[in-house]
Amino acid sequence: MLHLRKIFLAPLIACGTWLLPLPALAADHFNTLLYHHVSDVTPRSTSLSPDEFAAHMAYLHDNNYTVLDLGEAINAVQSGQPLAQNSIVITFDDAWKNIYTNALPILEEYGYPYTIFVNTDPVDQGNRFAMTWEMLRDVKQRGGTLANHTSDHDYLVRKPEYNEQWLADALANIDNAQQRLIAETGATPKWLAYPYGEYNLTLKQALKDKGYIAFGQQSGGIAKFSDWQALPRFPAAGPYANLKSLKLKLASQPMPVDYAAFPETVIRIDQGQANPPILTATMLKQEKKGVRQQLRCFILGAATAPDWSDTTHWQISANKALPEGRSRYNCTAPIWGQKNYYWLSQQWLIYAE
Ligand SMILES: [Zn+2]
Repeated sequence: MLHLRKIFLAPLIACGTWLLPLPALAADHFNTLLYHHVSDVTPRSTSLSPDEFAAHMAYLHDNNYTVLDLGEAINAVQSGQPLAQNSIVITFDDAWKNIYTNALPILEEYGYPYTIFVNTDPVDQGNRFAMTWEMLRDVKQRGGTLANHTSDHDYLVRKPEYNEQWLADALANIDNAQQRLIAETGATPKWLAYPYGEYNLTLKQALKDKGYIAFGQQSGGIAKFSDWQALPRFPAAGPYANLKSLKLKLASQPMPVDYAAFPETVIRIDQGQANPPILTATMLKQEKKGVRQQLRCFILGAATAPDWSDTTHWQISANKALPEGRSRYNCTAPIWGQKNYYWLSQQWLIYAE
């Protein structure tokens, strides 16, 4: 009897063990964490303490997340090669010295790769809070990646007019940082992190033409269907450092919509443009009714259901004008048959010169 049972159970077990690892290798997306300061003494809004950072890394390690090099993750997603189900990329904006002193030892404990987006003027000027070129070369020597965060970290789109001179200046700001990184540290990928995550459609297109991939600061994951000149990242410092809220984001997947068709992010109220802005989105596949019904957007602290014009098109707007400066529409929906959520975010800049 025992013998028989073994025979009958064997194929099931074989099936089970064969089937289980498949989804773990089949992801077509990854999530990116965005950090600035890793310090107890810098402004809290863009900081987390070394202890909190260590807790994030320990959580990734203990919960079977695979931390990937950004280049490796980009190549896999763009070429359609599968990634591990729980793939994470770690990035830092601004080359703060505290990243070098406080974050690197923790990252190296786990052997986690990372990318630092460098604004080069403070390094050139010997700003005492910025890393030196020597430190940045050491970062590369130790396996870190450096990329472009403009020269001067100025607002790129808070300018009177988006004319030819404006675009030439913005691109020169970016080109100069690229040249400085190459001159001081060698080969540098054409990846830009927009200061404050602010961009407009004209700049985005110009960067695409120049072969750049660019990152914002709106939350969400990255897949082939992402807008590659407006890639999202999950801010993980200040109010977002809390692991409880971060867990849901780490496990989330990019909402499959047509990101390239998203509207202009800058609303010029000095030019009479409509505020609040409307986000229109097209789902890339037909989602179950239950998923559509549970899609919610979180705007100015309230959850709102979008308007669906058919089974793939929806739109959402705040119920009052957004304040001047940056705001985000964050939208989530449950993924059918999973405990995880789709995630989508659009950052707006409400601006008057
Ligand atoms: Zn920055």
